[in-house]
Amino acid sequence: MRANRNETDPVDWPGPANLPHNPEPYKIKMVEPIRLPSREERERVLAEAGFNVFNIPADKVFIDLLTDSGTGAMSEQQWARMMEGDESYAGSTSFHRLRRAVEQITGFPFMLPTHQGRAAENVLHSVLVGEGDVVPGNSHFDTTKAHIEYRSACAIDCTVDECFEPSVEAPFKGDVDLDKLAAVVDEHGRERIPFVLITVTNNTGGGQPVSLENVRDVAAFCRARGLKLFLDAARFAENAWFIQQRERGEAGRSVREIAREMFELADGATMSAKKDAIVNMGGLLMLRDEDLFHKCSSFNILFEGYLTYGGLSGRDMEAVAEGLYEGTGEDYLAARIGQVRRFGDSLTDAGIPIVRPPGGHAIYVDAKSFLPGMNQERFPAQAIVCELYLEGAIRGVEIGTVLADRDPETGNNRPPKLELVRLTIPRRVYTDNQLAYVKQVLVNLHSRSDMIRGLRFTYEPAILRHFHARFEWESSR
Ligand SMILES: *Cc1c(COP(=O)(O)O)cnc(C)c1O
Repeated sequence: MRANRNETDPVDWPGPANLPHNPEPYKIKMVEPIRLPSREERERVLAEAGFNVFNIPADKVFIDLLTDSGTGAMSEQQWARMMEGDESYAGSTSFHRLRRAVEQITGFPFMLPTHQGRAAENVLHSVLVGEGDVVPGNSHFDTTKAHIEYRSACAIDCTVDECFEPSVEAPFKGDVDLDKLAAVVDEHGRERIPFVLITVTNNTGGGQPVSLENVRDVAAFCRARGLKLFLDAARFAENAWFIQQRERGEAGRSVREIAREMFELADGATMSAKKDAIVNMGGLLMLRDEDLFHKCSSFNILFEGYLTYGGLSGRDMEAVAEGLYEGTGEDYLAARIGQVRRFGDSLTDAGIPIVRPPGGHAIYVDAKSFLPGMNQERFPAQAIVCELYLEGAIRGVEIGTVLADRDPETGNNRPPKLELVRLTIPRRVYTDNQLAYVKQVLVNLHSRSDMIRGLRFTYEPAILRHFHARFEWESSR
């Protein structure tokens, strides 16, 4: 490896050493106009939305960093393949092409297409998860946790402690802590544990990657204890890229080889194709065991659709198949993760507190440091989200006390350890110049952070309040 490479540079960049190593490997063929509403309009829109950015119409948003889910730009190849979609009810040619892509990239012999990631979770959990069960893992994604809790089972977070220290620079803050995992297995017994789940990358924990060594160790642990291991593989390609870049001994392997090994260590995986497969809609359930595949098939037909289309059109399956190859392309990943990294580093250089190091798909602003002294029950991260909209028509999302809901038993808020604003970068959509605009808006807010007020509820739904709660500013700072 060259001594002076940046982390997100591709290993085999063929260009001159003194030029940027990760320019986007594409040019823009089609554009979608966006417009910055006036200050007056932004104030009106935010008030009408009840200070909840989920309620803001998308055409009133200038830079939309709400999510990277389904918001990526498809390629000309994906659009071309969609024209070849075979819409046969049974035995669709597009299904067979998708199955071939899944087999090549993951090695899983069995696959069910679903309409999105949570649908794959629904099918799998319908077969495996029952009342009183326990599913240990590294910071389960919110839909995964909801599917577990919906079945009166419990998700237990076994992520390493450093994940919860925003300023600690460590290469694999998404890892599973094996001691915590062993303690859960000892306490609950393996009969109560339908599977162990590793989410790659660890979205809830800041988009932080999981090392291949950790996946190997957890797999060995599971084999020794007779437990199944599943992956939540929404961002498997970004995770494999970080392994190639950061893990000792992995720099010489391709991202596809590394991804393949991650999958080979697991019994199966659920995947939201709306992330690393760069499609607007789609999901996959992938399995190694034929008997489990047959059991899941019945639920797939019940909830999603027939086995050879699931919740998708033939054309959607074509786009996913193509996206699995594009999303694991190394020059694409270098540009993608390089952009997130540059954006994150520019914020750090400007004194904005963020979760370090930058993750694969998003930058997380540390609201506790941004607004020191503001009690979490005044929703500091939600206040920053609102100010971002007022100042620049930027839409981020709160990952903090509002999202964490109330404790069902005590009725109290349960402020999480990390109070964050997530700025999620869609794939192949925004330019560095647009992200420089976002940076400057954050710098403006940071310079007058002592003027930012907290919020209080005017309407608080009983569950999932994050999506439809309404707020007003507190009357004083
Ligand atoms: C998005 C996501 C899901 C759910 O997928 P949907 O396609 O949104 O249903 C599950 N797990 C992770 C880690 C995700 O990022």
